[in-house]
Amino acid sequence: MQSKRFVVVGLGKTGFALAKFLYQQGAKVLVSDHSPLEQLKPRVKELMSLGIEIEAGGHKEETFLRADGIVLSPGVNPHLPVLKLAKAKGIPVWGELDIVFPYLPCPVIAITGTNGKTTTTTLLGKLLKAAGKRVWVGGNIGTPLVEALKEKDLDFIVAEVSSFQLEINTSFHPFVAICLNVAEDHLDRHGSLEVYRQCKLKIAQKQRKNDWFIFDGDDPALSEAALLLKSEKLPFGIKKDYVPGAYLEKGKIIITLKERWEIPIEVLKLKGTHNYKNVMAALLAAQITGCELAQIEQTLKQFPGLPHRLEWVRSLNGVSFYNDSKATNISATLAALESLEPPIVLIAGGLGKGQDFTSLGPALQQRTKAVVLLGKDAPKIAAISKQYVPTFIVSDLRAAVRKAWELARPKGQVLLSPACASFDMFKGYQERGEYFKEEVYAL
Ligand code: ADP
Repeated sequence: MQSKRFVVVGLGKTGFALAKFLYQQGAKVLVSDHSPLEQLKPRVKELMSLGIEIEAGGHKEETFLRADGIVLSPGVNPHLPVLKLAKAKGIPVWGELDIVFPYLPCPVIAITGTNGKTTTTTLLGKLLKAAGKRVWVGGNIGTPLVEALKEKDLDFIVAEVSSFQLEINTSFHPFVAICLNVAEDHLDRHGSLEVYRQCKLKIAQKQRKNDWFIFDGDDPALSEAALLLKSEKLPFGIKKDYVPGAYLEKGKIIITLKERWEIPIEVLKLKGTHNYKNVMAALLAAQITGCELAQIEQTLKQFPGLPHRLEWVRSLNGVSFYNDSKATNISATLAALESLEPPIVLIAGGLGKGQDFTSLGPALQQRTKAVVLLGKDAPKIAAISKQYVPTFIVSDLRAAVRKAWELARPKGQVLLSPACASFDMFKGYQERGEYFKEEVYAL
């Protein structure tokens, strides 16, 4: 990298960390971001003090065409016209994973999937720590992977990786790659489910013979794609007894690899079939990395899950309230509907990201008593839900909570599980979830 000219595109958390890393390797760095300078201020100041150039308010062609290499932040669309031009001139375009991977000091366990990444990444990090391993946990979950380079004496890195990071990946090949599931999401960015699946599979495409690929064996498309990989394959799921692999048998999670582990689901705080599958993936990785069941059992049992993921909030006069604000696609909402006891009043809506809500219909019919909708794509969901259950559109979350409470009485569950992104009304899913909880406590 010495004296090479790098353009980092996007000055988010990751772009900022990457720019500093490239600079430390001796590269000449310029950061290009489409936002105006005022919005980038705090980060710009530090970078400029190092001599890193900033191009704000748009991307100039000549900047990109002069570069020796271009590095994209995960949020940046890899199909920008200026990138096409650069590629046509033979200028390489990389992602964070490509840049960081060669420098990582220990084996990497990378986790992707449409849903369950953060839950599984967090759980696996805790399990490995409980077994006495020195672990760095991060990636898409919060701290950019490039920050792991600052750590010393690590045994493993557990990294959550998104389809956006993988889409531009060309060389990253983790020791253990986990693909939890692939369901419809981000179609506005990837175009089709097939393209999206191919992005997810890039987590394992460069793996070698002694690497491991852990995946949802219940998904026929994933199973078929796995056949083409060089790595050792470990399926998990509930539809078959996967050996070696993981499955559910008479209320127990069974793991078969180096040893046979049996974990009764009743001892787990995490609930729902989707979470049992997350546990299977984490436990397979735990066996590969040499954990003993006795070392990790307590931690596994006590793991309560994370806020905003099917989080119990409160029970009030026979009605329980659950915050599943992180359910930003249909598949996550279906998992929540399956996990709670009917009758359920579902609060949903927001930005639908091009999803077809038809597949929600049968679950609404079987599990819900009514649906309360809000946000931009409320009418799209209503067009489906009203065929099955009473449907109400409200203007804000306060009205939604009050309406759902009224509908749920005398007994049942109120579930916020929007099947949509939150950005039409909130800063993010956390704000939406916090606001929901406040309104529930205010009842
Ligand atoms: P991610 O990081 O992939 O978004 P999270 O663990 O934050 O995953 O969970 C996001 C949403 O998906 C939550 O609503 C959660 O209840 C749901 N979920 C978690 N695991 C699964 C799974 N394996 N299948 C379907 N939905 C899941």
